[in-house]
Amino acid sequence: MKKVVKFGGSSLASAEQFKKVGNIIHADAERKFVVPSAPGKRDSKDTKVTDMLYACYALAEADQDFRAELQAIRTRYQEIIDGLELSLSLDQEFEIIAKNFREKAGSNYAASRGEYLNGIIMAEYLGYTFIDAAEVIFFDEKGEFDGEKTNEVLSTRLADCEAAVVPGFYGAMPDGSVKTFSRGGSDITGSIVSKAVKADVYENWTDVSGFLIADPRIIDHPEAIDVITYRELRELAYMGATVLHEDAIFPVRQQGIPINIRNTNAPEDNGTWIVGSTCQKPRYVITGIAGKKGFCSVNIEKDMMNSEIGFGRRVLQAFEDSGISFEHVPSGIDTMTVFVHQDEFMHKEQKVVAAIHRLAEPDSIEIESDLALIAVVGRGMKSTRGTAGRIFSALAHNNVNVKMIDQGSSELNIIIGVANEDFETAIRAIYDIFVIAQL
Ligand code: ASP
Repeated sequence: MKKVVKFGGSSLASAEQFKKVGNIIHADAERKFVVPSAPGKRDSKDTKVTDMLYACYALAEADQDFRAELQAIRTRYQEIIDGLELSLSLDQEFEIIAKNFREKAGSNYAASRGEYLNGIIMAEYLGYTFIDAAEVIFFDEKGEFDGEKTNEVLSTRLADCEAAVVPGFYGAMPDGSVKTFSRGGSDITGSIVSKAVKADVYENWTDVSGFLIADPRIIDHPEAIDVITYRELRELAYMGATVLHEDAIFPVRQQGIPINIRNTNAPEDNGTWIVGSTCQKPRYVITGIAGKKGFCSVNIEKDMMNSEIGFGRRVLQAFEDSGISFEHVPSGIDTMTVFVHQDEFMHKEQKVVAAIHRLAEPDSIEIESDLALIAVVGRGMKSTRGTAGRIFSALAHNNVNVKMIDQGSSELNIIIGVANEDFETAIRAIYDIFVIAQL
């Protein structure tokens, strides 16, 4: 068995956290490939090293004195080194970083140093080989991740290693300059490394015991999900559930490598398994609930619309022409509603409305704002009658008016539109009926 282990920022925020990570790695001889993030927050008032680096580099770019800010970053690493009783010195590394900052190496380079330096410390602490991600992870000319080249180079390089540390979050452009993924991108690196070594499992260690059924800011101590499929996760992640970077699924999904989300502060917990498919019945009919506020609906009416071929295309063309992506398009006999992100749509609304009039000649157009969408996701819904009925009666009992319902034929999720102000009540009502009532 080969395991790739990725540790998030809070798992590596201090020497104390590093020691927990060391214990986890040493507890299992199969944990040979390690992907660290940069040191995160030690407590809620703390600042992530990545954010300190961005701020420090902003000064450098504005030709201002950044020495104090860089020294504060250096102190964070030195505390870790001292706490681990390592004899490692990062003096030379910091000299290079200061020089590159003065020469304006770019904010991507700056941010990537968080993972780079943490990787050096981690490799020293574990006695593993350090591999700079800029030598093995590549982006193409357009700045898109180059999966093919990366897999070729990385798999060859790792085949020669017993045990290695590859820092997360960054890689190199064709000209050799450093480029980062979007924030939280170390998850993607973990997935890429898992694919390259053909791992049996990709363990993603964070500060929660897995994916939760609902947002803990809305539901008090929600239950964790034991097993979730990639598809279910995609639906939930898209609707705002965070734990894992959205793009982290793709490299491992292609290879059928499961992801196990684990808690560094509670390693005895099983966490959540993210798998391709499973015969394991979910504990509850629904696997998870997630949602987002801030949508607008554009309701278009036209008599006899149902028999007018191309009507839908013409309406959507109006959105496409303004560069607006749509979320959902529920329709009736003579109506069609397009759900869009309010902040994207707001500034272009009149342009889009005019285009719909011109292209599709509707009878009327009505816009409603401040709507929220909630996704109730679960592979268990497929084989269970009455799921929709239970959702809507729970909402009715809690005085939530449902503005839109959308269920794909995959029966994997039901999307519900409600007013922004009903969002939390709706999620609580759904959680109560499917989870609390089953306990
Ligand atoms: N350190 C980066 C961030 O804060 C990447 C990561 O942690 O995954 O976004």
